Amino acid sequence: MARYIFITGGVVSSLGKGLMAASLAALLQARGYKVRIRKFDPYLNVDPGTMSPYQHGEVYVTDDGAETDLDLGHYERFTGVSARQSDNITSGRIYQQIIAKERRGDYLGATVQVIPHVTDMIKEFALADPDDHDFILCEIGGTVGDIESLPFIEAIRQMRNELGPDRTAVVHVTLVPYISAAGELKTKPTQHSVRELTSLGVQPDLLLCRCEHPLPESERAKIALFCNVRKEAVIQALDASSIYAVPLQYHAEGLDAEVLRHFRLEKDPAPNLGRWADIVDRHNNPEGEVTVAVVGKYVGLPDAYKSLNEALVHGAMANRVKVNIRWIDSEIFEQDDADIAAQLEPMHAILVPGGFGSRGSEGKIASVRFAREHKVPFFGICLGMQMACVEAARHTSGISAASSSEFGPTDQPIVGIITEWMSKEGLQQRGADSDLGGTMRLGAYEARLAGNSHVSTMYGGAERIMERHRHRYEVNVAYRDALEKGGLVFSGMSPDGLLPEIVERPDHPWFIGVQFHPELKSKPFDPHPLFAGFIAAAVDQSRLV
Ligand code: GLN
Repeated sequence: MARYIFITGGVVSSLGKGLMAASLAALLQARGYKVRIRKFDPYLNVDPGTMSPYQHGEVYVTDDGAETDLDLGHYERFTGVSARQSDNITSGRIYQQIIAKERRGDYLGATVQVIPHVTDMIKEFALADPDDHDFILCEIGGTVGDIESLPFIEAIRQMRNELGPDRTAVVHVTLVPYISAAGELKTKPTQHSVRELTSLGVQPDLLLCRCEHPLPESERAKIALFCNVRKEAVIQALDASSIYAVPLQYHAEGLDAEVLRHFRLEKDPAPNLGRWADIVDRHNNPEGEVTVAVVGKYVGLPDAYKSLNEALVHGAMANRVKVNIRWIDSEIFEQDDADIAAQLEPMHAILVPGGFGSRGSEGKIASVRFAREHKVPFFGICLGMQMACVEAARHTSGISAASSSEFGPTDQPIVGIITEWMSKEGLQQRGADSDLGGTMRLGAYEARLAGNSHVSTMYGGAERIMERHRHRYEVNVAYRDALEKGGLVFSGMSPDGLLPEIVERPDHPWFIGVQFHPELKSKPFDPHPLFAGFIAAAVDQSRLV
C-alpha cells in the first residue's frame, strides 16, 4: 500500500521544495522503492500553460500532453519517472471540475463548499492511481499561511486522520536565516511557521531547515523542542554546490533514514547511490569547457528555460566538460549598430530555443544565419527550428518575404498555424480564435527519421522517435522542395508525412532544428542524445576557435 509524504513550505518561497521532493524521491528510489511525485498548486489558473515564463518559469510538458509546473521537470530528471497529467493539480482545475459538476446537477441539491467538496477533490487527486507505488510524495506549492493553500493543508489533515501516521508523513521545509550583525542563525521564523501549520491541525514529522551556515546542535535542539519533533528529524539543509549534489547531501544529513524511521522501515538496506556519485563527479571534475550562446527572449530569468539549461548541463556531463551558457536577448541583434559577429564569434555553439511572439524574431534569424555561414554548431528548438526555416527560405531559397503567420499576415507563410493534426485521441482541429489554454499540439508525438540522416545517427540509428511538443504553428510542408533545394533537408517527419519534425544541413558540421522539445526528456544519468551530440560538436568547435 502506498505511503504518502507531504511536503510543505514555510517562512518564504523559493526554498527549493521541488528539489527537496525530487531528492527525497531519488533517495527512496535508490533503496529500491517505487516512487511518484505530485504537485498541488494553490493558484487559480487551470494550469500554468497561459502564464508568462517571467512570472512562473518554464511550462513543463508531459508525455500525455499536460502543461505543468516546472517542478515536475525536477521530479522527472531526478527519478526518471515520467510525469503525467494526474501528477499536477491547481486550485483552478479543482474549481473548474467542481463547478462543472454543480452545473450538471451532480451534487443533488447540496450546498457546494470548500469543506468537504474542495478538500474531497484534493484527496481524490492525491490518492488517485496508487498503482504499486511504495511512496507518493505530494508537494504543496506556496507557503503555509497563504490563503490559497488552506484547503490543501486541511486535506492533508484529513488524510493524516484517515490513513494514520504509518502511511503518512509531513516534511516541512523552512528557513533558518543568518543575521550577520548578530552573527547568529535565527530559529524564530521556523517556530512561527510550524505553529501556523499546527494551528491548522498538521504536526510536521520532519523539518528540513534551509540555512546558509551550519546549524549548531544547540539550535537544532531548540527547534526540536519548540516544534515538537525529534532532534534527529531536524535536518540541516545547507546550500549545495549544484542541484545534482542535493540528494547525496541530504542523505549525509540523514533525511531518507529519518523518513524511513518514521515509517518503521529503518531495517531496509542501504541505498545504492553510485549513479549520483558519478553525476556529481562528472559535474565537479570537467576535463574542458565550452561556451554556448542561447539566443532567446526570456533570458532575464533562467527558470524560463529550466529544462534547456539542465539538458545542456547533461550534454556537457556526457562529454566530461563544463558548459558556460551565454544568455543573449535576441532583440539586441536587431539594433542598427548591433555587432552580431563580435558577440557570436567567441561561441562554440549557438542555440535558439522555443518561444512565442514576434519580438526578437529577426535577431534569432540573424543568429541562425551567422551559425550557418560560419559553420558554428547550431541547434534550433521549436521556434528555433521555425526561425531556421525562415532563414533558409530567405537566404538560401530566394524567398525574401518568408515569415511565420505567428508574426502577422504574410504572403510566404514558411511557418503557419496548424488547424488539423492526428493525435492518439484522433483528429484534432483548431482555429485561429480557439482558446489559448491547453489547445496547442501538446505532448508526445512520433517522428519518422530519414535513414542516413545526421539525426538518425544522433539517435543511435533509430527510425522512429517519440518527443514532446508544445506549439501552435508548424513549418509548412508545401515549402519542403524549395528549402531542400537550398540545402536544408527535412530529415524527420510526422508519420503521415505532413508535419516537418526535424531539419538539418548536410553541408554543415552540426546544424539541426527540431519542432519538439528534447530538453524535456533529458536526465543527468541519461543525457538526451541531441544535447550530448550538440555539446560534442561544441567541443570540436572549441578546438578550432
Ligand atoms: N511560437 C511557436 C508556436 O507556437 C513556437 C512555440 C515554441 O517554441 N514552444 O508554434
